[in-house]
Amino acid sequence: MRLGRVAAVSDTGRRRRRNEDAYVCSPPLFAVADGMGGAQAGEVASRLAASVLEEPLTPGEAGEARVARLIQEANRRIYTRSREDAAASGMGTTMTVALVEADGRVAVGHVGDSRAYRVRAGALEQLTDDHSLVAELVRGGRLSPEEAETHPQRSVITRALGTDPDVDVDTFTVEAQPGDLYLLCSDGLTSMVPDEQILALLERHRDDLDAAARALVGRANEGGGEDNITVVVFELVDGSPEDTARMDAVEEDTLSELDAVPALAEPRAHVPRRRSDERRANLVGMVALLAALAVIAALVLWGLLR
Ligand code: CA
Repeated sequence: MRLGRVAAVSDTGRRRRRNEDAYVCSPPLFAVADGMGGAQAGEVASRLAASVLEEPLTPGEAGEARVARLIQEANRRIYTRSREDAAASGMGTTMTVALVEADGRVAVGHVGDSRAYRVRAGALEQLTDDHSLVAELVRGGRLSPEEAETHPQRSVITRALGTDPDVDVDTFTVEAQPGDLYLLCSDGLTSMVPDEQILALLERHRDDLDAAARALVGRANEGGGEDNITVVVFELVDGSPEDTARMDAVEEDTLSELDAVPALAEPRAHVPRRRSDERRANLVGMVALLAALAVIAALVLWGLLR
Protein backbone atom coordinates (compact mmCIF):
# COMPACT_ATOMS: atom_id res chain seq x y z
CA MET A 1 0.00 0.00 0.00
CA ARG A 2 1.17 3.51 -0.73
CA LEU A 3 0.01 7.09 -0.92
CA GLY A 4 -1.90 7.87 -4.09
CA ARG A 5 -3.13 11.26 -5.23
CA VAL A 6 -3.29 14.27 -2.96
CA ALA A 7 -4.99 17.67 -3.25
CA ALA A 8 -5.41 20.80 -1.17
CA VAL A 9 -7.43 24.00 -1.44
CA SER A 10 -7.65 26.95 0.94
CA ASP A 11 -10.11 29.77 0.46
CA THR A 12 -10.90 32.95 2.38
CA GLY A 13 -14.63 32.35 2.08
CA ARG A 14 -17.20 35.09 1.54
CA ARG A 15 -17.27 36.96 4.82
CA ARG A 16 -13.73 37.19 6.13
CA ARG A 17 -11.23 39.67 4.84
CA ARG A 18 -8.21 37.44 5.45
CA ASN A 19 -7.44 33.75 5.38
CA GLU A 20 -6.18 32.67 8.80
CA ASP A 21 -6.08 29.00 7.82
CA ALA A 22 -2.86 27.29 6.76
CA TYR A 23 -2.19 23.82 5.47
CA VAL A 24 0.63 21.41 4.75
CA CYS A 25 0.45 19.03 1.82
CA SER A 26 3.92 17.48 1.82
CA PRO A 27 3.46 13.73 1.39
CA PRO A 28 3.65 11.78 3.63
CA LEU A 29 2.81 14.64 5.99
CA PHE A 30 -0.48 16.55 5.87
CA ALA A 31 -2.02 19.16 8.16
CA VAL A 32 -4.54 21.94 8.56
CA ALA A 33 -4.26 24.79 11.06
CA ASP A 34 -6.98 27.35 11.76
CA GLY A 35 -5.53 30.44 13.40
CA MET A 36 -7.22 32.89 15.73
CA GLY A 37 -6.22 36.17 17.31
CA GLY A 38 -6.51 39.90 16.79
CA ALA A 39 -5.23 41.79 13.76
CA GLN A 40 -3.13 39.37 11.73
CA ALA A 41 -2.06 37.21 14.68
CA GLY A 42 -4.26 34.30 13.60
CA GLU A 43 -2.38 34.07 10.34
CA VAL A 44 0.95 34.21 12.12
CA ALA A 45 -0.11 31.42 14.48
CA SER A 46 -1.39 29.03 11.82
CA ARG A 47 1.62 29.62 9.56
CA LEU A 48 4.07 29.19 12.40
CA ALA A 49 2.41 25.85 13.13
CA ALA A 50 2.52 24.77 9.50
CA SER A 51 6.16 25.82 9.08
CA VAL A 52 7.26 23.43 11.82
CA LEU A 53 6.10 20.51 9.68
CA GLU A 54 8.37 21.50 6.82
CA GLU A 55 11.52 21.05 8.85
CA PRO A 56 13.90 18.06 8.62
CA LEU A 57 13.02 14.88 10.48
CA THR A 58 14.39 14.01 13.88
CA PRO A 59 16.19 10.67 13.30
CA GLY A 60 14.50 7.59 14.70
CA GLU A 61 11.22 9.37 15.25
CA ALA A 62 8.08 8.03 13.60
CA GLY A 63 4.35 7.73 13.85
CA GLU A 64 2.44 9.21 16.75
CA ALA A 65 5.63 10.21 18.60
CA ARG A 66 6.69 12.33 15.65
CA VAL A 67 3.28 13.87 15.16
CA ALA A 68 2.99 14.71 18.86
CA ARG A 69 6.49 16.21 18.96
CA LEU A 70 5.77 18.39 15.92
CA ILE A 71 2.57 19.73 17.45
CA GLN A 72 4.31 20.40 20.80
CA GLU A 73 7.08 22.22 18.95
CA ALA A 74 4.52 24.29 17.07
CA ASN A 75 2.79 25.10 20.35
CA ARG A 76 6.06 26.18 21.95
CA ARG A 77 6.91 28.52 19.07
CA ILE A 78 3.50 30.16 18.95
CA TYR A 79 3.44 30.56 22.73
CA THR A 80 6.93 32.09 22.74
CA ARG A 81 6.06 34.48 19.92
CA SER A 82 2.87 35.58 21.61
CA ARG A 83 4.81 36.38 24.78
CA GLU A 84 7.47 38.37 22.92
CA ASP A 85 5.25 40.29 20.53
CA ALA A 86 2.44 42.41 21.96
CA ALA A 87 0.61 42.39 18.61
CA ALA A 88 0.57 38.60 18.69
CA SER A 89 -0.57 38.32 22.29
CA GLY A 90 -3.32 35.77 22.78
CA MET A 91 -2.98 34.25 19.32
CA GLY A 92 -3.58 30.55 18.83
CA THR A 93 -4.38 27.92 16.27
CA THR A 94 -5.94 24.53 15.85
CA MET A 95 -3.83 21.83 14.28
CA THR A 96 -4.73 18.46 12.82
CA VAL A 97 -1.82 16.43 11.40
CA ALA A 98 -1.80 13.13 9.49
CA LEU A 99 1.42 11.22 8.80
CA VAL A 100 1.27 8.23 6.43
CA GLU A 101 3.84 5.69 7.54
CA ALA A 102 5.81 3.33 5.31
CA ASP A 103 3.50 0.43 6.21
CA GLY A 104 0.50 2.51 5.16
CA ARG A 105 -0.78 3.20 8.67
CA VAL A 106 -1.85 6.76 9.36
CA ALA A 107 -0.72 8.52 12.55
CA VAL A 108 -2.94 11.42 13.53
CA GLY A 109 -2.27 14.26 15.98
CA HIS A 110 -4.97 16.75 16.82
CA VAL A 111 -5.78 19.87 18.85
CA GLY A 112 -8.89 22.05 18.35
CA ASP A 113 -11.94 21.86 16.10
CA SER A 114 -10.42 21.18 12.70
CA ARG A 115 -11.16 17.60 11.69
CA ALA A 116 -9.79 14.44 10.12
CA TYR A 117 -12.24 12.18 8.29
CA ARG A 118 -11.91 8.90 6.46
CA VAL A 119 -14.05 7.64 3.61
CA ARG A 120 -14.16 3.84 3.35
CA ALA A 121 -16.74 1.58 1.76
CA GLY A 122 -19.10 4.46 1.05
CA ALA A 123 -19.13 5.78 4.61
CA LEU A 124 -17.66 8.95 6.09
CA GLU A 125 -16.14 8.58 9.54
CA GLN A 126 -14.94 11.47 11.69
CA LEU A 127 -11.64 10.31 13.19
CA THR A 128 -10.96 13.25 15.51
CA ASP A 129 -12.98 14.59 18.44
CA ASP A 130 -13.64 18.33 18.33
CA HIS A 131 -12.09 20.20 21.25
CA SER A 132 -14.97 22.63 21.37
CA LEU A 133 -17.49 23.70 23.95
CA VAL A 134 -20.46 22.28 22.08
CA ALA A 135 -18.69 18.97 21.33
CA GLU A 136 -17.94 18.56 25.04
CA LEU A 137 -21.56 19.28 25.89
CA VAL A 138 -22.67 16.70 23.29
CA ARG A 139 -20.22 14.10 24.66
CA GLY A 140 -21.54 14.82 28.15
CA GLY A 141 -25.12 14.28 26.95
CA ARG A 142 -26.13 17.87 27.71
CA LEU A 143 -26.66 18.95 24.10
CA SER A 144 -27.90 17.07 21.05
CA PRO A 145 -25.76 17.01 17.90
CA GLU A 146 -28.56 18.97 16.17
CA GLU A 147 -28.56 21.64 18.88
CA ALA A 148 -24.76 21.86 18.61
CA GLU A 149 -25.00 22.76 14.93
CA THR A 150 -26.84 26.00 15.63
CA HIS A 151 -25.50 26.78 19.13
CA PRO A 152 -24.39 30.45 19.39
CA GLN A 153 -21.11 29.38 20.98
CA ARG A 154 -20.33 26.59 18.53
CA SER A 155 -17.07 28.23 17.47
CA VAL A 156 -15.65 28.34 21.02
CA ILE A 157 -12.77 25.89 21.26
CA THR A 158 -11.48 24.38 24.47
CA ARG A 159 -7.96 23.50 23.34
CA ALA A 160 -5.58 25.35 21.03
CA LEU A 161 -1.90 25.73 20.27
CA GLY A 162 -0.17 28.80 21.61
CA THR A 163 -2.18 29.64 24.71
CA ASP A 164 -0.11 27.65 27.25
CA PRO A 165 3.51 26.42 27.45
CA ASP A 166 2.31 22.85 26.99
CA VAL A 167 -0.64 21.46 25.09
CA ASP A 168 -2.56 18.22 25.48
CA VAL A 169 -2.38 16.52 22.06
CA ASP A 170 -4.73 13.73 20.97
CA THR A 171 -2.75 11.11 19.04
CA PHE A 172 -3.84 7.81 17.53
CA THR A 173 -3.02 5.53 14.63
CA VAL A 174 -5.49 4.08 12.15
CA GLU A 175 -4.96 1.00 10.00
CA ALA A 176 -5.35 2.09 6.42
CA GLN A 177 -6.72 0.05 3.51
CA PRO A 178 -6.20 0.54 -0.23
CA GLY A 179 -8.99 2.79 -1.46
CA ASP A 180 -9.18 4.81 1.75
CA LEU A 181 -9.67 8.53 1.30
CA TYR A 182 -8.62 10.91 4.08
CA LEU A 183 -9.86 14.46 4.52
CA LEU A 184 -8.40 17.12 6.80
CA CYS A 185 -10.41 20.33 7.02
CA SER A 186 -11.02 23.48 9.00
CA ASP A 187 -14.41 24.26 10.54
CA GLY A 188 -15.13 26.66 7.67
CA LEU A 189 -16.05 23.50 5.76
CA THR A 190 -17.84 21.53 8.46
CA SER A 191 -19.87 24.46 9.80
CA MET A 192 -21.24 25.09 6.29
CA VAL A 193 -21.53 21.61 4.77
CA PRO A 194 -23.21 18.65 6.49
CA ASP A 195 -21.36 15.32 6.61
CA GLU A 196 -23.74 13.68 4.08
CA GLN A 197 -22.90 16.35 1.52
CA ILE A 198 -19.18 16.09 2.22
CA LEU A 199 -19.42 12.35 1.55
CA ALA A 200 -21.55 12.82 -1.58
CA LEU A 201 -19.11 15.36 -3.06
CA LEU A 202 -16.06 13.21 -2.28
CA GLU A 203 -17.71 10.19 -3.90
CA ARG A 204 -18.91 12.14 -6.92
CA HIS A 205 -15.36 13.38 -7.58
CA ARG A 206 -13.57 10.23 -6.46
CA ASP A 207 -11.56 10.10 -9.72
CA ASP A 208 -10.28 13.66 -9.41
CA LEU A 209 -9.23 14.79 -5.95
CA ASP A 210 -8.55 18.35 -7.15
CA ALA A 211 -12.15 18.55 -8.30
CA ALA A 212 -13.28 17.00 -5.01
CA ALA A 213 -11.41 19.59 -2.94
CA ARG A 214 -12.72 22.43 -5.09
CA ALA A 215 -16.26 21.10 -4.91
CA LEU A 216 -16.13 21.02 -1.10
CA VAL A 217 -14.87 24.60 -0.90
CA GLY A 218 -17.44 25.66 -3.50
CA ARG A 219 -20.26 24.12 -1.50
CA ALA A 220 -19.09 25.82 1.71
CA ASN A 221 -19.16 29.16 -0.13
CA GLU A 222 -22.62 28.42 -1.53
CA GLY A 223 -23.71 27.76 2.04
CA GLY A 224 -22.56 31.23 3.05
CA GLY A 225 -18.76 30.97 3.23
CA GLU A 226 -18.81 32.56 6.66
CA ASP A 227 -15.33 31.39 7.60
CA ASN A 228 -12.06 30.49 5.92
CA ILE A 229 -12.27 27.06 4.28
CA THR A 230 -9.36 24.65 4.00
CA VAL A 231 -9.44 21.12 2.64
CA VAL A 232 -6.60 18.59 2.29
CA VAL A 233 -7.36 15.18 0.74
CA PHE A 234 -5.20 12.13 0.16
CA GLU A 235 -5.83 8.53 -0.79
CA LEU A 236 -4.11 5.22 -0.12
CA VAL A 237 -3.79 2.78 -2.99
CA ASP A 238 -2.32 -0.63 -3.80
CA GLY A 239 1.36 -0.56 -4.62
CA SER A 240 4.79 -0.32 -3.04
CA PRO A 241 5.63 2.61 -0.77
CA GLU A 242 8.64 3.44 -2.96
CA ASP A 243 6.39 4.68 -5.74
CA THR A 244 6.24 8.41 -5.41
CA ALA A 245 2.96 10.08 -4.65
CA ARG A 246 1.60 12.45 -7.19
CA MET A 247 1.58 16.01 -6.03
CA ASP A 248 -1.70 17.48 -7.01
CA ALA A 249 -2.18 20.40 -4.73
CA VAL A 250 -4.08 23.38 -6.00
CA GLU A 251 -3.23 26.98 -5.45
CA GLU A 252 -6.09 29.35 -4.81
CA ASP A 253 -5.70 33.05 -5.43
CA THR A 254 -6.31 33.68 -1.74
CA LEU A 255 -2.85 32.31 -1.00
CA SER A 256 -1.32 35.45 -2.43
CA GLU A 257 -2.48 37.16 0.74
CA LEU A 258 0.21 35.24 2.57
CA ASP A 259 2.69 37.81 1.33
CA ALA A 260 1.08 40.31 3.63
CA VAL A 261 1.75 38.32 6.79
CA PRO A 262 3.97 40.53 8.90
CA ALA A 263 7.21 39.64 10.64
CA LEU A 264 7.05 35.98 9.85
CA ALA A 265 10.57 34.91 8.98
CA GLU A 266 9.91 31.18 9.04
CA PRO A 267 9.68 29.31 5.73
CA ARG A 268 6.14 28.94 4.52
CA ALA A 269 4.54 25.58 4.48
CA HIS A 270 2.60 26.06 1.29
CA VAL A 271 4.28 23.63 -1.06
CA PRO A 272 1.88 24.41 -3.93
CA ARG A 273 2.84 28.06 -3.71
CA ARG A 274 6.49 27.26 -4.40
CA ARG A 275 5.50 24.96 -7.24
CA SER A 276 3.34 27.67 -8.71
CA ASP A 277 6.16 30.21 -8.50
CA GLU A 278 8.36 27.77 -10.42
CA ARG A 279 5.67 27.33 -13.04
CA ARG A 280 5.36 31.08 -13.41
CA ALA A 281 9.16 31.43 -13.78
CA ASN A 282 9.16 28.69 -16.42
CA LEU A 283 6.36 30.41 -18.29
CA VAL A 284 8.17 33.77 -18.29
CA GLY A 285 11.33 32.04 -19.60
CA MET A 286 9.36 30.34 -22.36
CA VAL A 287 7.69 33.57 -23.48
CA ALA A 288 11.07 35.36 -23.56
CA LEU A 289 12.58 32.54 -25.66
CA LEU A 290 9.69 32.62 -28.15
CA ALA A 291 9.97 36.42 -28.46
CA ALA A 292 13.72 36.14 -29.16
CA LEU A 293 13.11 33.48 -31.82
CA ALA A 294 10.45 35.65 -33.47
CA VAL A 295 12.87 38.61 -33.64
CA ILE A 296 15.62 36.42 -35.17
CA ALA A 297 13.16 34.97 -37.72
CA ALA A 298 11.99 38.47 -38.66
CA LEU A 299 15.60 39.67 -39.12
CA VAL A 300 16.48 36.64 -41.29
CA LEU A 301 13.36 37.14 -43.39
CA TRP A 302 14.09 40.85 -43.77
CA GLY A 303 17.69 39.98 -44.84
CA LEU A 304 16.42 37.49 -47.46
CA LEU A 305 13.84 39.85 -48.88
CA ARG A 306 16.27 42.76 -49.34
CA1 CA B 1 -12.23 28.65 11.39
